[in-house]
Amino acid sequence: MTTILNHIGGRFTAAHSGATLPVHAPATGEVFATAPDSDSRDVDDAVAAAQAALPAWWALGREGRSNALLRVAARVERDLERFAQAESQDNGKPVHLAREVDIPRAVANLRFFATAILHQQSEAHLMDEVALNYTDRQPVGVAGCISPWNLPLYLFTWKVAPALAAGCTVVAKPSEVTPLTAHLLAEACAAEELPPGVLNIVHGLGGKVGAAISAHPGIPAISFTGGTRTGAEIARTAAPLFKKLSLELGGKNPVLVFDDCDFDRMLDTTVRSSFRNQGQICLCGSRILVARGLYDRFKAAFVARTEALRVGDPADPTTDLGALVSAPHLEKVLGHVDLARTEGGTVLCGGERVQLPGALAGGWYMRPTVIEGLGPQCRTNQEEIFGPVVTLQPFDTEEEALALANATPYGLAGVVWTRDVHRAHRVARGIQAGIVWVNCWMVRDLRTPFGGTKQSGVGREGGWEALRFFTEARNVCVRW
Ligand code: NDP
Repeated sequence: MTTILNHIGGRFTAAHSGATLPVHAPATGEVFATAPDSDSRDVDDAVAAAQAALPAWWALGREGRSNALLRVAARVERDLERFAQAESQDNGKPVHLAREVDIPRAVANLRFFATAILHQQSEAHLMDEVALNYTDRQPVGVAGCISPWNLPLYLFTWKVAPALAAGCTVVAKPSEVTPLTAHLLAEACAAEELPPGVLNIVHGLGGKVGAAISAHPGIPAISFTGGTRTGAEIARTAAPLFKKLSLELGGKNPVLVFDDCDFDRMLDTTVRSSFRNQGQICLCGSRILVARGLYDRFKAAFVARTEALRVGDPADPTTDLGALVSAPHLEKVLGHVDLARTEGGTVLCGGERVQLPGALAGGWYMRPTVIEGLGPQCRTNQEEIFGPVVTLQPFDTEEEALALANATPYGLAGVVWTRDVHRAHRVARGIQAGIVWVNCWMVRDLRTPFGGTKQSGVGREGGWEALRFFTEARNVCVRW
């Protein structure tokens, strides 16, 4: 049994309450670790440690902070296999996915922001014969970072790295469902002698630890990734305290398949964009909109490819889909399939739980699922499912495709498949989303703005956007 501890002021500690939470391995359903069941007292300690560490961390300067983060990145990279095994054990994702994507991207996040600050420039605005204005950016203070369970270390570092690089100190809460790699990161930070109190990690429930971070007057900025309802709750708490907020929330992303697309490439990528990480990526395409002339061909090919996907042991290199993250989440996703049936949808494949043999019998596996026959306004096509479930809808015109694409309260990402360059630009502009991919999916350049519109979020992460979020700009005006 692994014991996960809080990391506060450079020390590994249990929660004030002394209580712990069980951490399950989705592959088997068994408890393999415990995490502290922390509360506001632990958050108070973490904020005090972060405030104490702030002046020295800022005084270290860009190069000092950059070097410290680069050392941590190198250690995570050195221990990549250990991190990948841990991420798979904690989350249920195939270990090859953690090895090829999650952990390398976490390393890339740390390296990217560690080096970005070395190249950051300040703006200057010259008023002829009158004055010079320059923009002085200082860290906002102690940053609160709250992250979800689907890409645990990847999204944790996506917040923590820019905050630390910008000169903030951090109080962070990973999802209590997947706390293990954040704990390993704390160990890496300690081993690389990141100054005590610079990165504080408090484990525990969202309703206790997350809520305490949102309400703490010593935390002036909160970067949150998670569900839309949780984001609204954090905003309700934080807004009257005038905190800076960056909210990366849910999605119901459309994939628009036009009849002039490169069919084979589109098919390969759409299978991935539907079911990667068991469909538990906020950027997965969950509503596939297909030109009517291509619909039957697409449906036959897509269902065949989906049925051929292997649901299995996350440790097996041939596994395509591992386990869903938790028993309640599996129940929620299966409930959505039942709902789709009652709404009149036809389940073309999947739709049921998978029972694996032996030690994996208690795991939370589900067959990837394709549904057709539902209109845009039904709940199945409106609500985020966040599992291996997609719907198919035909369209007749580009206008109709766009109307269907935009017919939800969400606006995170969209994918367009066409060989017509004019249509590609036109449709990309017409999709109400913060991120649009044309003839690809999940191609990520860390310099680009990342975030959603409508109920998918407020603000942007990535590149300078993230560094700006964690700093406060001051204009200094000097008379000539
Ligand atoms: P949740 O919103 O349930 O949780 C996210 C984090 O917030 C967790 O650490 C959670 O803790 C914590 N939390 C829960 N309640 C509160 C609260 N009242 N105050 C403060 N913090 C709280 O999301 P999930 O973990 O279920 O993640 C899935 C969701 O995340 C999906 O909706 C998905 O679309 C979204 N997401 C968005 C992304 C984006 O970039 N836009 C990227 C990835 C995911 P605990 O785990 O203890 O509940």
